Amino acid sequence: MKPNLRYLVTAALFFCISLPVSGQTPPQTLPEPGKTAVIVIDMWNFHWCMTAAQRVAAMVPRMNAVFNEARKKGMLIIWNPSDVVTAYAGTPQYETAAAMHVLHPVKMGEWKRPQINVRFSAKVGPCLCGPGINCGGNWGWDAMNPDLKVDENDLFSASTGEIFSILKNKGIENVIYAGVHTNMCVFGKPGALSHLYPHGFNCYLARDLNDAFTNYDPARNYTPDDGTAEINKNLQDAGIGVINLGELLGVNDETTGMVRFAPWGKTDRPYFFDKAAAISLTKPFCGSGEIRYTTDGSEPKSDSALYEKPLKLEATTQIKAAVFADGKVSGKSDAYFVKLPPVPCKPDVYLDTMDYKVNEYLQGKNRTPCMWHPVKNQSYGDSGTDGKPLRIRGKNYEHGLGFRAPSGIFYDLTPEYKRFVGLAGIDEKLVGRNNGRAVAMHSSVIFSIYIDGQLAGESPVMRMSQEPWRFDIPIPPDSKRLSISCRNAGTVSTYDNGNLVDAGFVK
Ligand SMILES: [Zn+2]
Repeated sequence: MKPNLRYLVTAALFFCISLPVSGQTPPQTLPEPGKTAVIVIDMWNFHWCMTAAQRVAAMVPRMNAVFNEARKKGMLIIWNPSDVVTAYAGTPQYETAAAMHVLHPVKMGEWKRPQINVRFSAKVGPCLCGPGINCGGNWGWDAMNPDLKVDENDLFSASTGEIFSILKNKGIENVIYAGVHTNMCVFGKPGALSHLYPHGFNCYLARDLNDAFTNYDPARNYTPDDGTAEINKNLQDAGIGVINLGELLGVNDETTGMVRFAPWGKTDRPYFFDKAAAISLTKPFCGSGEIRYTTDGSEPKSDSALYEKPLKLEATTQIKAAVFADGKVSGKSDAYFVKLPPVPCKPDVYLDTMDYKVNEYLQGKNRTPCMWHPVKNQSYGDSGTDGKPLRIRGKNYEHGLGFRAPSGIFYDLTPEYKRFVGLAGIDEKLVGRNNGRAVAMHSSVIFSIYIDGQLAGESPVMRMSQEPWRFDIPIPPDSKRLSISCRNAGTVSTYDNGNLVDAGFVK
């Protein structure tokens, strides 16, 4: 079949399936595998929105299983992680793709089709976490999700020209898109849907392996899964073949699905809420079973609580969930939601007007091989006191200490000190540096307050742009010593700069 005729036929087919067919699934066929590539966009290890990052992670098991089958059938997998593609420079998959474009360049031809005429109807919220405290800032990814299985015959490319040359050299006519976010990067990044579609490729979207960036609105029971379905429908209406790739490849393993949470924080990056939070659980591509969950930290079982409607949380809670059906169980999901304490008052005596003390051993010169002493009223700079204003979640603070973890200091207590108060978080100067946002995912600390050796208060894991943690700790009479530590949380990073601001003692 000559290309133009084939395109006409395909376009006609697309037109047919784009007609409103309420209640019907459009006809689905698998494009010829040997002439098909799957282009996978932006499956990053981290994202400025924690719910977005966890939803990517939730797609990984199914993606691995489906691509494994796709490769066996002869499909080419091209990973296009855009911003972080250079993390793969030096791998054969990256170098082969780049060399092919140089050795066998194919000039992009005349545009054979018009651009996709699509209107994305789903509302895009500040982030996918919903109406509570939003994730702040456009930062934090440096590679793809580490659990993705990349094959030696896959390719890495984030360039429209490179991908065009690869596809033409390999005789590929069909392109199936997967990844995130469907209404943004899967559509618009170089090499993405809107760039290859006009060049005559038959473009499809794997509806079981994509996620859109929309919103979560518990008041009208609208989850990010509804948003993704709406965006998929928009693309289908615009003539893109929206297919269940796993189903077409015979991958019907429900154990590769996972319960999804909205919003979705984890213990290493908790979701903070002020008074209450409404948590929705969904189970796309997990089969027809029921969601069962626990809130006591135990693993969910087939007789755990049945999920029926959004869960209203009013206290710090860990939820674990899975889908159970006919002896089968989906992948296990967990989530962690932290209730913020009330905002403390300002101290009568600010820490930055006092001198802190350190462990006797650390007082000598050059005796701080792995512990850094905090600086006053500025963030901890590369060389200590060359920092910037103390800044947490977009706000500068005049008073406080800038830490680099690990760090430990203490104060002698006097009877007049009744309470210790303060706000703790990660300093934000990093995101202002050249490419600093690409490494901002590594900043994580935990602040602990001890009084006479007893733990009196501790923050959860603090991350860049989190709402500051709130300390308001009563000091028992006759207490002698209050110590403050800022320690690395999980990773040890030179970017572990914690700030303790508006902190001190209430008389
Ligand atoms: Zn978010």
